[in-house]
Amino acid sequence: MKHFIGIDIGSTAIKISVINEEKELVGHRISGSGSMFYKYAHQTLDELLRELNLTMDDILYTVATGYGRKLFKEADENISEITANAIGAVHAAKDFGEIKTIINIGGQDSKAISLDDMGNVVNFAMNDRCAAGTGKFLDACAMNLEIRVEELEERHFNSQGTPLSINSTCAVFAESEIVGLLGNSHSVEDIVSGVHYSIAKRIVKLVKRVGIKEGIYFDGGPALNGGLVNAIENELGKQIFIPKFPQVTTSYGAAILGLDSYNYQNDSL
Ligand code: ADP
Repeated sequence: MKHFIGIDIGSTAIKISVINEEKELVGHRISGSGSMFYKYAHQTLDELLRELNLTMDDILYTVATGYGRKLFKEADENISEITANAIGAVHAAKDFGEIKTIINIGGQDSKAISLDDMGNVVNFAMNDRCAAGTGKFLDACAMNLEIRVEELEERHFNSQGTPLSINSTCAVFAESEIVGLLGNSHSVEDIVSGVHYSIAKRIVKLVKRVGIKEGIYFDGGPALNGGLVNAIENELGKQIFIPKFPQVTTSYGAAILGLDSYNYQNDSL
């Protein structure tokens, strides 16, 4: 069977998706980007192919996307993460229905993407200037609270009081504010929910820049954190859809685009 690969080299994590001719995700792998994107991307790809019992001879087309996409020179094509995210999201959300608004939070940026009825990108807004509202902020908060990011969800739902307000607009000052809250005997749980609500408020502002259209979808690594999902839903006052593998949607979209490019190039021969 023929396969297609999408490689998303993000600022924090490398995500690789392998799909078959039916556009089904047959496997994926995530690893840290570290300081050597190119080397780690190859290592991750080798591990994934081994796991799936495939070799590069089984791969017809590879598309790279993400922050470090240009470093992966072996790719047949590279595309922007906005396009790849939109394609992946539309396919990943098939069972959910039509999606019109994508929220993506990555390691060092956050985006809101607006789609038309055909799933094409009509507008997007991006925050890549400030760490507050990104995965890095969640990582730093978890580190200050001496917990793992994977624990943020449980802590959020165990918060007893109203979420604390974290007022600093800069991630660096917000970290100092968190240390201050700990010093004032606030619980880790209430601080975590406060952090989630402070990110959610920023995300809602970002989404408003492109217009909030029903059919809201959220992906990127932080979408694995149900506490953050809960805070964003409450701030938006709307339900949002999270795909099964939220961190790999963009690489999945790149693989789908690869299949379409391959078919287009071969049909026109
Ligand atoms: P990028 O594409 O910019 O590299 P990702 O979409 O891969 O970013 O997201 C990375 C972020 O996802 C990390 O900074 C971390 O905060 C968050 N993350 C990763 N895994 C989890 C998890 N299991 N639970 C909660 N958050 C997670």
